[in-house]
Amino acid sequence: MDPFFYERPTELTRAAARAAEPGAMIYAGGTTMLDLMKHKVYAPERVIDITRLREPGLREIRRDGDLLVLGALVTMHQAAEDATVKAEAPAISESLWLAATQQLRHMATLGGNVLQRTRDPYFRDPSWQAVLTRNDPRDSGEPEGANRLGAVLGTTETFLASYPGDFAQSLAAFGATVEITGPDGARSLPFTDLHVLPADREAPDQVTRLAPGEIITAFRVDLSPATRRSTYIKVRDRSSYAFANASCAAGLAMEGETVADVRLGLGGVATVPWRATAAEEVLRGERPTDDAIKAAAEAAFADARTFHHNAFKVPLGQNTIRRALTVLRDMEG
Ligand SMILES: Cc1cc2nc3c(=O)[nH]c(=O)nc-3n(C[C@H](O)[C@H](O)[C@H](O)COP(=O)(O)OP(=O)(O)OC[C@H]3O[C@@H](n4cnc5c(N)ncnc54)[C@H](O)[C@@H]3O)c2cc1C
Repeated sequence: MDPFFYERPTELTRAAARAAEPGAMIYAGGTTMLDLMKHKVYAPERVIDITRLREPGLREIRRDGDLLVLGALVTMHQAAEDATVKAEAPAISESLWLAATQQLRHMATLGGNVLQRTRDPYFRDPSWQAVLTRNDPRDSGEPEGANRLGAVLGTTETFLASYPGDFAQSLAAFGATVEITGPDGARSLPFTDLHVLPADREAPDQVTRLAPGEIITAFRVDLSPATRRSTYIKVRDRSSYAFANASCAAGLAMEGETVADVRLGLGGVATVPWRATAAEEVLRGERPTDDAIKAAAEAAFADARTFHHNAFKVPLGQNTIRRALTVLRDMEG
């Protein structure tokens, strides 16, 4: 690991100002940062540790009527275990429970979780920079190379590194908002605008729309019948301690026999946290029969682009959606 300056501010505005300086990076739980620094993928000159910031809202889970606010320094464990989260948005709790390990979940924060980078081997091993010519080696998988884990949605011909997180899929599904504070003040952003599709990136390394120094302070989720009747299904190579090959955060609200609201966020299959709006449209206002659910799952992957080793993700992703929606449809209430 390269040497760096370390700072642990207690005021949010100071942290934002320090983090905006060239070569600075924010550090929260450190469970991704430290790995990437050891691999020399990240080599910050300044590390700005935000875990001692005093603003109490950063560590709080708060319900205000039908609004759920999750502070960015809340740990994955804290949110997964929270009684309100479990009752009002079970998909959020489940997406966190099914991620990483107990030890990691106690260290890792929600803000850091959504900003984790791809697990693509070409990104995590900088020695590939020497051999790759067609891709940006830091954030993509080689189309004919080791692309089994690569995305099939939101790709370009050369960018297929998949977004690895779980929690983000429930935020995408539920139309969450991200609260941000930076050197120029506070603003908010729809969660699905936080990550930038590869085709829209102004620079190869522009993974999010955060400006230098901007710190995520909270996530806001509107609670509704669809968040209450929700689940997260994750399919992976082994049943624990592994990233998703395909996952689905789903929420369903019924009005009599028909679907009043349906929410679908997909993981493991896309380059960014993915809201499957085309699939939602297929089901809204319809009876959720097996055929209708199958049609919705197919619509979710209508634009899929597969590569040498990852075509399996299309049927796997479709089946994951079908399973999630079937579980919700057959639930009582
Ligand atoms: C072995 C292993 C298995 C894992 N399995 C899974 C899994 O199955 N599913 C899953 O979802 N995750 C998994 N993870 C990833 C883990 O969940 C993340 O490492 C963790 O959530 C990151 O949170 P952190 O607080 O440690 O972030 P850090 O490592 O501190 O930071 C991560 C990134 O976010 C930035 N950052 C952090 N907080 C903020 C903020 N508030 N505002 C702006 N920028 C910020 C940092 O600059 C850095 O770029 C796994 C990790 C490991 C090591």
